[in-house]
Amino acid sequence: MTQTVNLTCPVCNHQSTRQVNAAINAKTHPHLKQELLEGKTFLYECEQCGAQRVINFQMLYHDPDQRLLIYLAPGYVNNKEQTLEILDDLKNRQPVSLDNYHLRIVLSGAELLEKIQIFDQHFNDYEVELVKLLTDGIFSKEKSGETVKARYFYMDPKSKSAKIMYTTDSQQLLVDFHQSLLDFVKNKFKKELQQPQRGEFQLVNYTWAIETVSKDTKKDQ
Ligand SMILES: [Zn+2]
Repeated sequence: MTQTVNLTCPVCNHQSTRQVNAAINAKTHPHLKQELLEGKTFLYECEQCGAQRVINFQMLYHDPDQRLLIYLAPGYVNNKEQTLEILDDLKNRQPVSLDNYHLRIVLSGAELLEKIQIFDQHFNDYEVELVKLLTDGIFSKEKSGETVKARYFYMDPKSKSAKIMYTTDSQQLLVDFHQSLLDFVKNKFKKELQQPQRGEFQLVNYTWAIETVSKDTKKDQ
């Protein structure tokens, strides 16, 4: 299943269209998953001037073995109701029940890649988001003055260990994913992490982690 995306090059204004996948099934089309993980799916090169940029488009990622369905919705924040309608419709059209599925919404291709890695490594994404938030403290001590634009869970192929990749204006930096922080999170947020987590589409991201921690702080006061 493909869709057509209209693109305008930000450098030379050349207009073009591209056929992209609207849905990827990791089990039946492992090569499409591979392209995703290599970052090729969201990379666009202008045929006129060669400029490269990252593009975003709606896409559904399905991994039946992990009971994982991720909907990439770049415009979600501005079109929540419309997106949730699409997702309701999608749930109703599935031949199987999604009640026991991990259902996620992500806002960018980078977030989609991150989610796939988290689930492939058998981590819990709620816990990972909380660990990312706590790791900010370590990052700001080590690199004070750097403004963080984003942080992603990342499996480092060299050390074969989990990291958090920090993106700043000028560079990308890897910080260890600390088991001690994960243990802390599992204990401290036991109650929040026990909430029913399957069968409903959820946005489990940095904002979710901030809200969870701030609710917990209020509770303690
Ligand atoms: Zn161009």
